[in-house]
This record gives sequence, C-alpha cells and structure tokens, in this order.
Amino acid sequence: MLTEHRRGESDLVLRGGNWYLYATCDVPEPEQFDPAAFLGVDLGIVNIATTSDGDRHAGRHLNQVRHKNRRLRARLQKKGTKSAKRLLRKLSGREARFAADTNHRITKQLVTEAQRTCRGIALEDLGGIRDRVRLRKPQRVTLHSWSFAQLGGFVPYKATLAGVPVVFVDPRHTSQECSRCHHISRSNRPDQSTFLCTSCGFAEHADANAGRTIAQRGGVVWAVSHAADDAA
Ligand SMILES: [Zn+2]
Repeated sequence: MLTEHRRGESDLVLRGGNWYLYATCDVPEPEQFDPAAFLGVDLGIVNIATTSDGDRHAGRHLNQVRHKNRRLRARLQKKGTKSAKRLLRKLSGREARFAADTNHRITKQLVTEAQRTCRGIALEDLGGIRDRVRLRKPQRVTLHSWSFAQLGGFVPYKATLAGVPVVFVDPRHTSQECSRCHHISRSNRPDQSTFLCTSCGFAEHADANAGRTIAQRGGVVWAVSHAADDAA
C-alpha cells in the first residue's frame, strides 16, 4: 500500500518506547457490490462480536486485562508518586494497543467473511447505546469505553476498502426478539447467554439470535433505501 498509494511525506515517531511510521495513503475505493444478504453482527461485552452465522469472538481475554489494569490503576492513583504516574501512562497505552489490536483482528475476520460470501454487514446503530442500555455499574463502565465504539468504527472503514456495503439498524429489542417468528418478550431470555422463544420454541445462543435479527433488519434497511434510490 505504501509503495503504490503514498501521498506526501511520512513521519517516524517515537512514542512510549515504540517507533511508529505515520504515512498518508490515498487508496481508491473499490465499487460496492450488491449484497445477496447480510451478515449481522451483535456487539457486546461477554462476546465482543457475534455473527448471525453463530461465530463468536469472546471478550474474556480483553476483559481480564481490563479488570486487572483497573485494580492496578486504583492502587497507583492512591500512591500518586511520580513513578506511579509514569507507570499509569504506560499501562493505559498498553491496554489501548491491546484493545485496538483485538478490534482490528475481529474486524478483518468479519469483513473477509462478508466479502467471501457476497454479503453486506449489518450493525446496530451505536449512537443511542448509552441511553438504551441500563446496566449495573461495572458493566456500564465497560460499555462507555471507547474500544466498544472503536470496533463499530473499524468495520465501516475496513468494509469500504473491501467494497462491502454496511448498514446500521435500529437497535431496539434486538436481544429480546425471536429471529424466527419475531415475537418480542423479555421472557425470551431465561439467562444472559440463552435465547428461548416463548412463542415458537426457537432456541439459540442469545448473541447469535441477536445477530440474526440484526442481519434481517439490515436486509430491510438496504431494500428500503434502494427502493428510494430507484424511485428518485
Ligand atoms: Zn419465535
């Protein structure tokens, strides 16, 4: 990419003991293909991303790192010495890089799978997520974290470079709606990881069911917006 698309000068930067090369690349966007269907992606905490195909990217490792760091940070903040502050900065940089690396890896897999199967990607519209989600405090902290939003931002960016269309869908009740019969009820979720429809009996991992609902809504959003294009 550098040899073919580099624009202007590049900067070699030393940050936190690591060397980075900053270079601007002007890459032509490939033509977006017309998707046959959508790959729905449910973003979460226990599972960072779960697709409508049932592929899960567990967040266990990332959450472990976060919790360990949070405890350590609290201790260092209490200490308040110069060396404690230096260690705090180093820690937050390392955690940010680890989270970003995880998000890049997951995004790449999602986009590759969508491209391979000629599908678009459907995501929940994350804009309203803070207002929508009412959780106990520790989870709320995680949800507000930037890395959650970062994954939602990486997907459209990488998808565009691959010609994969991305749509954002209404996030309301995606976790409570049955992806088979569309019955919506809180009792469809006997526990955090299980979906069991009280109307038709459909059973699936809760995040995979949400992914399927998101995929279906993606198809509707695409059809509606393209019908409008055709009419115009
Ligand atoms: Zn059902």
